[in-house]
Order: sequence, then structure tokens, then C-alpha cells
Amino acid sequence: MRELRNQNVLVVGLGKTGQSVLPVLLRLGARVQAADSRAAPPGLDALRERYPAVQWYLGPFEPALFAAQDLIVASPGLAQSDPAFAQARAVGVPVIGDIELFAWLAKAPVVGITGSNGKSTVTTLVGEMAQKAGLRAGVGGNLGTPALDLLPADGGEPDLYILELSSFQLELVDSFRPRVAAVLNLSEDHMDRYNGFADYVAAKARIFARMGAGDTLVLNANDAPTRALAAQVPAGVDLVYFGRQAPHGLGHVRVLDEGFGEQLCIDGAAGTTQMVLPLSALRMVGEHNVENAMAALAIAFAAGIPAAAAAAALREFAGLPHRMIRVTELNGVTYYNDSKGTNVGATLKALSGLPGPVVAILGGDCKGADFTPLRAAVVAQARAVVLLGRDAPRLEAALAGLVPMRHARSMEEAVQLAAELAKPGDQVLLSPACASLDMFQDYAERGRVFTEAVLRLANGRQAWS
Ligand code: ADP
Repeated sequence: MRELRNQNVLVVGLGKTGQSVLPVLLRLGARVQAADSRAAPPGLDALRERYPAVQWYLGPFEPALFAAQDLIVASPGLAQSDPAFAQARAVGVPVIGDIELFAWLAKAPVVGITGSNGKSTVTTLVGEMAQKAGLRAGVGGNLGTPALDLLPADGGEPDLYILELSSFQLELVDSFRPRVAAVLNLSEDHMDRYNGFADYVAAKARIFARMGAGDTLVLNANDAPTRALAAQVPAGVDLVYFGRQAPHGLGHVRVLDEGFGEQLCIDGAAGTTQMVLPLSALRMVGEHNVENAMAALAIAFAAGIPAAAAAAALREFAGLPHRMIRVTELNGVTYYNDSKGTNVGATLKALSGLPGPVVAILGGDCKGADFTPLRAAVVAQARAVVLLGRDAPRLEAALAGLVPMRHARSMEEAVQLAAELAKPGDQVLLSPACASLDMFQDYAERGRVFTEAVLRLANGRQAWS
């Protein structure tokens, strides 16, 4: 770790992550400055009061300020392409993120989980598994509590940390070395921030760049781009695979059916295989959640959590809100809220995980995505599509001529149109393949508005006309 006492350190971005960075730097004796491009970021007054020693810079970033630092700690929400960062780097100022700072300070082993989809689900599940095993686990990162807020103020470390990590966070790590890391799957996302898919995958691959002997990397055997990462893994790292047809090896997880139903299994030593739990005992729905269960089991085992504790957690965990949640049934049509389906890969899984026919509500802020991979799934599964949000025209162009499409101006109207288009036995699915920020505060608000609209319809109280 670097000595930060009396060093000039600039915290850029005053969101949740930036706010977790400030007290840590102050504790380490740094001279802390903070910048945010917004004139009045939320909570600023409280921050000023709480941290009087910090100097605040608001509004457009000043390259000279950035270039004058000993270290910059940047929020993952900010594109590193901003010229102020580029200039600072050019004069040798290191730019790190909260996870790098966390890596300097954390003493307990770290489990790091990344991938395009399923991170929050798997991170939460592994946390529940650790708890069942009686371990004290600090669970957070890109989900829930920021990593630095998990560090104990009194020095009493937990037994392990379990972190969800986004590609944006991983762009800003250097020495971070998790004991166990997992890449769950890789499909296009955030193409507005990356120079193509390879660039995005390279950011994710930083999770294992510093790993070495004694560490374990868990990879999805059935996802080609993820499996291909095996070629880049540093020497000495144990590779563990999960997937319905994963290859055999110690700690690998797959599904087996030996005549008494499909079982989640893990390979033990000397070619043995242990049945952990029948798939029918999972409370989470959908094939993607079978994958998430396999991933969580492989990660837990690699982290020393016994299979029995993992099985106990899998039996109880019903999934996180806004991820393939059955809302209700109305006139023979079942409504699902998958508002967290914010990229094409997630929506593909959501569509294919339902029996169909599906009336799909799609659209929002597409983040530069290519929607053409949705075409086959729409043909196979969808009766109709209802389009919503800023990038509805892009979806309309990508899906032209496949199934009937209608435009909605609000979520209320989208639900109304979907209800009209659906026939008994169908499913209505909100899995927009887009971010929500063009119309909603976040995916949770979008999911709530959808759920409320569906329930209003079910109660015969239609606010929209
Ligand atoms: P993340 O934290 O990576 O965004 P979540 O666990 O919050 O992942 O799930 C987000 C969405 O991704 C879900 O709503 C679902 O549509 C989809 N999803 C979840 N798990 C998977 C998976 N293993 N493969 C593909 N899509 C998935």
C-alpha cells in the first residue's frame, strides 16, 4: 500500500462510492480534495459539514487540479476518457478506484464476483451460504454497501469479504488480488463506455490479472467468451468450472440426472461427485438462476464454505427484487417483473426462461447496444412487443417485421397495451434490455411502477385512459 499521509488526493465523483472513499483517506492522513461535475450533488451540505477538512470543487473538471495531485480516486460512474483524467495520467498521476483502495487495506480473504449478468444474485447467495456456515462475511461492493464501508473501523476483520464488482470498478484496480474470483458470463453491455466488446471483456479480466498460486478462478463452462478467458489466467491459479456440461475436476459444479431428477452436483477428490441438492428444491425461477446456483456453489466451495451450508442457502433464497419476479396472474396471463434485465443478454435469458408466448415490454436507454441478437428469441418466444422509452426507435428498427409492435408513452400505457395483446396462457414480461434512466430514477423505480400498474389493472382501477 502507498503511504498517503500528507499526500494530495483528489476524490472525483460524490456519489455513494465517493462518499465511502472520503473518510478512509482522511483516516490515512491524506490532504483530501473532492470534485464533482454537478454544481450541487445530492447531500453536499451534509458532506461539507461532516468533513470540514476537505476542499470542494464543483462544476466542469479542471485539468490543472487533476494534474496537481499525488493520487486520484475516481468514481466508477465516470468515464475515464474525460480529458482531465487523461491529462493527469499523462503527467504520471495514478488514478485508482475504491476497490484498489480497499485492496490496500483489507486483511481478510476476498471473493470477487463479476460478469455481465447475475452478479448481484450470486453475490447475495454466496453471502447467505457463508452465513449458513457460521462465517462473518462482509458482503457488498457494486451492490448494497460500498466495499470501503465494509472495512471495520475497529480493526476486527470479518472472516471474508464477498464483493460484486462491475467492469467500471475493475478498470480502476491494479494490485487487487482476490483469493477467489468468478466471471459468471460475458455479453455486450455499456457499449457507450467501451471501444467494443473486447475492450469490455478486458476490463472484466482485470479481476484475475494479479491472482497467483493458491487462488481460484471460477468460470462459466457453457459461455464461450467466458471460457475463453482461461487462456489468460496467470500461472498457478486453480481453474474451476460450472455449467450443465462442465468438465470434471475438483470443485467443478454441474447438473446430473441419474434417474431420480436433476441434481446440482460438485466434484470431490479422486473422481467422486457429490449430489448437493435437487434442482426442484431451488426457489429461484428460470434457467439463468440454475446457472447462478451452480456459480454460487462453485464459488462457495472454493472459498471453503461446506456444501451443506451452500445447499441450505439455496433452498431458502427466492431471488432478489425486480429479477424475474412473478407479479400476479390476470385473465390467464402471468405478469413478470424483470426490470433489472438491463442488457440484451439478460433479456435473452428472461425470454427463453419462460414457456411463452410472451408479450415483452422493451426499451429505455440502450447504452449503445446492438439489439439484433434479440431477433431469434423474439421470433421463438414473443407474441408481440410493446416499446417504451428513448431508444424505442432503435428497437423497432432491429426487430422490424418479426411480430406486432406497439409504442407506449408511459409504463401504465405499456402494461395496458400488453394486457390487450396477451391471450390466456401467455406471459407479460418487463425485461427492457435497456437502462431505465431516461424515464425513471433507477431500475427499481421502473419495476415498482410496472408492478403497481399491473396490480391496478388486476384490481380494475386503471389510472391510464
Ligand atoms: P447484475 O448484478 O449482474 O446486474 P442481477 O443478479 O442483478 O445481475 O440480475 C440482473 C438481470 O440479469 C436479471 O434481472 C436477469 O434478467 C438477468 N440474469 C440474472 N442472472 C443471469 C445469468 N446467469 N445469465 C443471464 N442473465 C441473468
